[in-house]
Amino acid sequence: MLQTGDIVKGQLSGQQYKITARLGEGGQGSVFLASSGRDQVAIKWYHRQTATEQQKKMIAKLISMGPPRGEAGKRFVWPQDIVTRSRVPSFGYVMPSVDLKSYAELGQVWARLRPSPGMKQRCRISWQLAQAYRQLHLSGYCYRDISMGNFLFNPSSGDVLIIDNDNIGIDQQSGSKILGTMEFMAPEVIVGRKTPSTSTDLYSLAVLLFYFWIWHHPMHGMLEYSVRVWDIPAKRMIYGERPVFIFDPRDSSNRLPADPEYQTPLRFWDVCPRSIKDLFIRSFTDGIKNPDRRVTEGEWVHAFRQLENQIVRCPHDRAENFWQPGMKQLQCWHCKRRFDAPPRFVISTSSGLNQILVLADTKLKRGELEPYCDESVMEEVAAEVVRSPNNPNVWGLKNLTYQSWFFTPADGSGEREVIPGRAMPIIAGHSLRLGSQTNLRVEV
Ligand SMILES: [Zn+2]
Repeated sequence: MLQTGDIVKGQLSGQQYKITARLGEGGQGSVFLASSGRDQVAIKWYHRQTATEQQKKMIAKLISMGPPRGEAGKRFVWPQDIVTRSRVPSFGYVMPSVDLKSYAELGQVWARLRPSPGMKQRCRISWQLAQAYRQLHLSGYCYRDISMGNFLFNPSSGDVLIIDNDNIGIDQQSGSKILGTMEFMAPEVIVGRKTPSTSTDLYSLAVLLFYFWIWHHPMHGMLEYSVRVWDIPAKRMIYGERPVFIFDPRDSSNRLPADPEYQTPLRFWDVCPRSIKDLFIRSFTDGIKNPDRRVTEGEWVHAFRQLENQIVRCPHDRAENFWQPGMKQLQCWHCKRRFDAPPRFVISTSSGLNQILVLADTKLKRGELEPYCDESVMEEVAAEVVRSPNNPNVWGLKNLTYQSWFFTPADGSGEREVIPGRAMPIIAGHSLRLGSQTNLRVEV
């Protein structure tokens, strides 16, 4: 086992690393903080029995192939180099060190050790997570062990990190002893019919998102509650042989028991917006047995990106509420009082329709106006809601791009130009032409 002060050597870079602290211990090995003299890195060092040649080869392959491309690739804390120590049979690998003060695990939020992310951040965390896996799968990898333990998020910025990437494999190719963490495993993997793949990753992703939103396992209802001994055969039964969703609209055999400990998921399910509930229902009814019906990463990304722009605070108690298309009024989940829905920008682009609530701090991102723009500029702010400098009761949508837009007033009178830096008044019925493919309409 490594000690503070030990030196290990990078096999690819030739770089020496000095172990400076021990960070933690896992099933396969220990994680240390180390210094190259210039940079601080993290090193995972395998226990002797897990330090197999096969593992070493797989990590070397991950290093040579590199992380998934684009923004999502930055979410994976990817292996950078293999390290060894003279006359020691084991080995380890180097990865970037994570700023653990900014990132939290879900379990820490449950234990109230870290702040619970707001609804906007929850949406952002969810789509970033799905987007990261989408990019991983597009690169030909499968993760095989998606679980709560390798998912970190920044509760205030909504950024995501995925750690423990040494078990990633090549989809349909690499063999692995890693089957996953039982409560996150797809039923066909549990019963031994299939090995982990991108399709079983989709099931695990849905379980992880369900945990993140509902703080509960989708199959932990009466069936699990009535189990006397929570052992492997019992888990096999609940997760693999007879999985029944606690909120299955057709099968009520696994509803939540009337125990106070099971009331939190019920409360969160009530607050969960329809669009997300529908995706969970499909994941854990049709998607259990039929992998083709599983919710894809792209569907999650789309749903959470939309939802991120459909959150409004209750005027009475500031509680965050979800607006859903078609709602004229909302009933606050917290104080139960009703309030009117804010106006919305209805944006039509070549990829479909998106509705964004008009609030004092609403900003339109470039990706929302040009869905096929480069990923690196998607998050750039293209327009923002501003108050008129002459009349604080008049709101406008300011053009922050370098191109003119054209708006047609509600009364149908001629088109007017909105040059960069200027704003279109936000009035019901006004419509705006932003380039050849994108139109925006103000609706109340
Ligand atoms: Zn309220």
